[in-house]
Amino acid sequence: MKYRRVVVLLVLIILVGPFPACTKRGEEPAGMKKLKVITTLFPLYDMAGSIGADKSDVSLLLPPGVEAHSFEPKPSDIVKINEADIFVYTGRFMEPWAEEIIKGAANENLLVVDASRGTKMIPGVFHDADEPAGSFDPHIWLDFDNAKIMVKNIMQAFQLKDGAHKDFYEQKAEDYRDKLTELDTLYKTTLATCKDKEIVYGGHYAFGYMAKRYGLKYLAAQGVSPDAEPTASDLVKLVEQIKKDKIRYVFYEELTSPKIAETIAGETKAKMLLLNAAHNVSRNQLEQGLSFFDILKKDLDNMRIGLECK
Ligand SMILES: [Zn+2]
Repeated sequence: MKYRRVVVLLVLIILVGPFPACTKRGEEPAGMKKLKVITTLFPLYDMAGSIGADKSDVSLLLPPGVEAHSFEPKPSDIVKINEADIFVYTGRFMEPWAEEIIKGAANENLLVVDASRGTKMIPGVFHDADEPAGSFDPHIWLDFDNAKIMVKNIMQAFQLKDGAHKDFYEQKAEDYRDKLTELDTLYKTTLATCKDKEIVYGGHYAFGYMAKRYGLKYLAAQGVSPDAEPTASDLVKLVEQIKKDKIRYVFYEELTSPKIAETIAGETKAKMLLLNAAHNVSRNQLEQGLSFFDILKKDLDNMRIGLECK
């Protein structure tokens, strides 16, 4: 690890000074190699793709439509990582498998980015006795201040690997952070007007950060990981809560069967609305170029209906 840091530092010194960069901005030599960047989850893919733009080749390790928490990399994924310049993962609570891969990577060139570095994490909520106690909620991208720190971490990796375009990456990251600020303001102003402040979620505990940030109450059928089935008593509690608080909408999660939300809705006559935590996207959405911001704006539209906001 120390050796890798020294190499990165030497590369940085060579790239940023004392000699001027060999190319002027906007004048790429023909066939210039793009940075190869592998990201694990969709928010990281969206951030890295926006920062690297045409100077990078960013890919998503998670196949489209696959549930993120139960993902296990295949040997072909390890090969991809071994050929990359940068590997970005969310953190050890989201991708416990990532550290094994990093240790085993036979790629001296690889720069590994733990996007959670410096973020403010909150303790996880667990419904399953098998889940490790004392670990943190991995859904850090759903707190937009944390998302800004993730953007900074990713930007710094691009700058280390390609110092000739340091300003380019700085500007792209700033643009992305500005969009996050705008989205945060929209969330704050909208969610402050809701008649109802309680989200009942027929899925895993993914929106803890968002609930905390905007002063919402959040009840989920499962803990921070969707692997475990909710217990009958968890479901009974949710149904009772919905009846007691006269809640009219139950939210369901993306890319999995909404059967938990359907069960709750069936018992309570509540209607269903999607609340997408953006772990991953479908193949169609990926091809259409759906962005993190598109998903989060649609979520706010659905909360506006479900929580009766202006
Ligand atoms: Zn999750």
